[in-house]
Amino acid sequence: MIGSDLKFKDQVAIVTGSSSGIGKACAIHLAELGAKVVVNYSSNLEEGEKTLNEIISKGGNAILVKADVSHEEEVKALFNETISKFGRLDIVVSNAGLQKDSSFLEMTLQQWQKVIDVNLTGQFLVCREAARQFVAQEKAATEVSHSELSIGKIILMSSVHDVIPWAGHVNYAASKGGIMMFMKSISQELAPYKIRVNSVSPGAIKTSINKEVWSDPDKYKGLLQLIPYKRIGTPQDVAKAVAWLASDDSDYVNGETLYIDGGMTLYPEFADNG
Ligand code: NAD
Repeated sequence: MIGSDLKFKDQVAIVTGSSSGIGKACAIHLAELGAKVVVNYSSNLEEGEKTLNEIISKGGNAILVKADVSHEEEVKALFNETISKFGRLDIVVSNAGLQKDSSFLEMTLQQWQKVIDVNLTGQFLVCREAARQFVAQEKAATEVSHSELSIGKIILMSSVHDVIPWAGHVNYAASKGGIMMFMKSISQELAPYKIRVNSVSPGAIKTSINKEVWSDPDKYKGLLQLIPYKRIGTPQDVAKAVAWLASDDSDYVNGETLYIDGGMTLYPEFADNG
């Protein structure tokens, strides 16, 4: 129940793409830890409302805002609505993402562009707006803060495919590889403002994005071959790591990528000497 450990009391968090999967778990977990949460969805109002209602039924504080992260004006409106409702911003989990899979030979420009627009340009738009807000509210603060702690935390949702090449998904892998350098570069640039930027890179997490794999027993068996820890991850596995990166417990962690993958990046094929 909300209220037992209010790590994020008086803090406001936006979680993009929180109508389902990992984003939903992040929104709920941050609310459980006391944050006021902006639940964002792009098209599925019903799913967005489910996240919102789950937070409210647990005693949390949240609003629901529609915005497509690949559209600049909608991202600006998302942040404006957050500030007009809650007055400030402390945490952004830039999670929204999608796949449009195809062999490279068959991939259309549309499939390429859609994934880059949402997974990479969407991160740019969301992170830029977050950084602008953190800097603006710090400047506007009437009291001089003597705290050494971060004034704003950004967590980007990447993937193990920021380091593992993925045939048949080059648009997705390129977008996630792009997030790695994007995140490190803005982390370097924003650290002097005391804004912390980090990524999490999940391995296989049981959500709708990969249902086709975990719902098929043969494919699921094949997937487990790639996971030394021998289980698929849950959205909550990721949400707990995100909460740590959003908290002051990780205050000296900047520009890092945290792999939450049951060891998927450990070259499991080499476990028996290759
Ligand atoms: P999901 O499909 O359940 O969630 C994706 C969310 O992004 C949805 O809520 C969707 O509505 C939202 N979204 C899509 N396009 C959007 C847009 N233009 N604007 C705003 N929101 C948009 O899948 P998920 O697994 O929860 O994926 C969440 C993130 O985690 C993605 O960035 C994905 O790449 C990443 N990820 C997932 C896995 C996994 O195994 N599930 C592994 C690595 C990384």
